Amino acid sequence: MRDRDEYNRRRRERYAENSDRMRLYAREQYRKNPERQKQATKKWLADNPDKAALYLEQRYRKNRANRDEYNERQRLWRQRNTGRQREYLKRYDAKNPEKQLASTHTYRAKTKGSSGFLGGDDIKALRAYWDGCCAYCGESKTLTIEHVVNFDRGGTSNLGNIVLACRSCNLRKRGGDLLEWWPYGRDKLDVFMTRRALFITRGLL
Ligand SMILES: [Zn+2]
Repeated sequence: MRDRDEYNRRRRERYAENSDRMRLYAREQYRKNPERQKQATKKWLADNPDKAALYLEQRYRKNRANRDEYNERQRLWRQRNTGRQREYLKRYDAKNPEKQLASTHTYRAKTKGSSGFLGGDDIKALRAYWDGCCAYCGESKTLTIEHVVNFDRGGTSNLGNIVLACRSCNLRKRGGDLLEWWPYGRDKLDVFMTRRALFITRGLL
């Protein structure tokens, strides 16, 4: 028994001296064969129920005691990484412009209490249908989502009420009535109306 105590004491000392190295080693072993390590841990817990219970209780107490510190660390981590997350989202949006437009749109629609839903594929379909140009002026510019009938006038966020328009048209029309605002002449209005009607009909077929 004394030998055993002596052995354990030496082991603890050795561990204390080399704890960093041993932790690294254990981590390395785990990385090499996580399944085996998990099984070994499971087996140990099953074979030593009393020690396992004690260990789990100790861990629980320690975690509880460290909870505030833990929460603070989490908060700091989030703070440090918001920039990175934002960068990632920015890159994602740049790669998926349709999804980005659709999700911004859906978010805005929700906050305004408007009904309807648009997905990335809807935006792609709209872009393709209007040849990547502004539905109003026909120019090839950066496109934004435009409600033909504005939210405030009861327009929904369904595909039938949406066109892609350049920022300049979008800003100039604002929430105004399309027919009152239309600045491009009667002929172009007819073309716009017909094309739009065809798009909506096609969606219904
Ligand atoms: Zn335009």
